[in-house]
Amino acid sequence: MGAPPLDPRELSARLRTVTGDAAQVLLHEPELGDDAWRYVKETLDSNWVSSAGPFGRRFEHALAAYTGTRHAVATVNGTSALHVALLLAGVRPGDEVLVPALTFVATANAVAYCGARPHFADVDPTTLGLCPAALADYLAGHTEQRADACYNRASGRRIAALLPMHTFGHPVELDHLRQIADDYGLALVEDAAESLGSLYRGRHTGTFGRLGVLSFNGNKIVTTGGGGAILTDDEELAVRARHLTTTAKRPHRWEYFHDELGFNYRMPDLNAALGLAQVQRMEALVARKRTLHEHYREALTDLPGAALFREPPYARSNHWLNVLLLDRPDPPLLEHLLAHCQDDGLQVRPVWTPLHRLPMYADCPRAPLPHTEALAARVICLPSSPGLVPAHG
Ligand SMILES: *Cc1c(COP(=O)(O)O)cnc(C)c1O
Repeated sequence: MGAPPLDPRELSARLRTVTGDAAQVLLHEPELGDDAWRYVKETLDSNWVSSAGPFGRRFEHALAAYTGTRHAVATVNGTSALHVALLLAGVRPGDEVLVPALTFVATANAVAYCGARPHFADVDPTTLGLCPAALADYLAGHTEQRADACYNRASGRRIAALLPMHTFGHPVELDHLRQIADDYGLALVEDAAESLGSLYRGRHTGTFGRLGVLSFNGNKIVTTGGGGAILTDDEELAVRARHLTTTAKRPHRWEYFHDELGFNYRMPDLNAALGLAQVQRMEALVARKRTLHEHYREALTDLPGAALFREPPYARSNHWLNVLLLDRPDPPLLEHLLAHCQDDGLQVRPVWTPLHRLPMYADCPRAPLPHTEALAARVICLPSSPGLVPAHG
């Protein structure tokens, strides 16, 4: 029994009805916006190309206003934003931080930069992000609450924080995860690198934890060439974030005095100018991404052996990357489909290698990871540039 396996020619033919017949269709191309030239030219004309000009603050204000958070602090990339957010959340050397096993490597790297260890947890195939039910069960069985904090019973280490990630822009179950963070005394920090413009029950991802993090890397929904931001409602944390990302230099007219170990992580104005042009048109951008998703839905209806991933019912996803999910894990079929689409000029991608399989994280503590393992051989990310949908006047 069972449906016939998905035919690679049928898949690429159906994808082509959405992408058109360009020789090369990339996974994600930026839409820089009409104002990008003008803003970048302004920074060039003014000579204020570094982080002392006006665009950094304008970009931060636009991000805060758009996401409905009090403060945004722009950084050189999303990884540096994660690093500082974790330090500010109280992550210390020797701690553990709970992260999904299925995420981009930067999520775990930022934990390691703090001298802490990632502790991998499983994901839920209906959200592609951390599974709250599995996490709650696991923590109940494997941790103990001491006077000051939650400890991993096996390693004896403090578990300092919970770091969920919104995979390909699709929001995770935040209410339940926030409840777990409260129950166990964990700092909640959101890796919202992929989900600018996504809403969880009407509210922007990245604004639920003590701190949230965005990325503006070249392939993200908004790009500044390279860049990131820390979001927080906490004034004190925002001031600390600004301080730590500017080498912890005490403000003074001429003195060089740095009152702690800081970082050179501030975003230059040249990059912020690019970001501002895009964030000002954010809702139009998200609308086109959602239209593209609808086009894929129509084109992939009743595909044998696979289905387009749909946003969870509580969410409005930015649909950063559209995802085709094979009904069951099938590594040879996955290879075959990826190779055929690539040969046909369609840039498709699998999901990341689960992080516990990477050499530097192989010895890290981890919960059972059945859904992570299965999804690793089920995911095909589809070309998702907003430019695949015409802009409306
Ligand atoms: C892009 C991304 C980051 C940050 O990446 P940078 O390239 O440093 O901006 C972090 N986490 C996830 C899940 C990402 O996709």
